[in-house]
Amino acid sequence: MPELPEVESFRRYVEETSLNQEISGVSFRNEHMLLNTSKAKLVKTLKGNKLAGTLRHGKYLFIRLAKGGHLLLHFGLTGDVAYVDEKDDEPRFTVLLLEFKKSGSFAFTDSRQMGKVGLVDDVNKFLRNKGWGPDALQVTKDEFIDRFESRRTNIKTALMNQKLVAGVGNEFSDEILFQCGLHPESRVDKLGRKGLENVYKQMVTILKKAVSVNADRDRLSQYFFPGNRKAGLECPRCGGKTEFKTVGGRSAYFCPSCQELVA
Ligand SMILES: [Zn+2]
Repeated sequence: MPELPEVESFRRYVEETSLNQEISGVSFRNEHMLLNTSKAKLVKTLKGNKLAGTLRHGKYLFIRLAKGGHLLLHFGLTGDVAYVDEKDDEPRFTVLLLEFKKSGSFAFTDSRQMGKVGLVDDVNKFLRNKGWGPDALQVTKDEFIDRFESRRTNIKTALMNQKLVAGVGNEFSDEILFQCGLHPESRVDKLGRKGLENVYKQMVTILKKAVSVNADRDRLSQYFFPGNRKAGLECPRCGGKTEFKTVGGRSAYFCPSCQELVA
């Protein structure tokens, strides 16, 4: 599932391939993936328009439109972006296809179709209405601690709660907690300031590193869980075996020997 580092790599990709080209054709195929708009309005807004810039917040990508407003993309479980030179090369599972007048096309693809495509006039207002917290790479340490310290929930659920901090999902939350030596069911309000500072520090370090390698799991070999979430793996620290548990309805992988339960 695309988390902050993937979406940041999508953002850069859009910047590098698809800005400032007049859109001459728009195809949209999955109406249940629409957010805040209709198919007719989406097509009408995009046709003759240009993608003019990008903004990411958590797992949302906002692509600024030259004639005002933003195209919103949320990547669900399997969303991706692709620029193709030839019309015949349209990628599989294309949901939205923007054909550029000069040449080439931009495609938003999603095989599982759990993502979202929408139009947003005011990004800040949209984020406020959603109740989304600050981006995980923008939030300050003090704000992070303020938001977390009185939560009477487990740390895995809290890290993945986009209303507390936006951008962390299943895979990176497992790694953050592995690096902190914290069991995913540790109680947030029992961690104390020091404990939360450490979670913040690991979160920022890991996400920055993942962003710097464009979320390429093969270049995150100093970390353990990214690209590698399984039970029964050998823990690189203690040689014990990783375990699986459902925590707050989400899958958690962890080393029971290295990750202490604070409760
Ligand atoms: Zn271990």
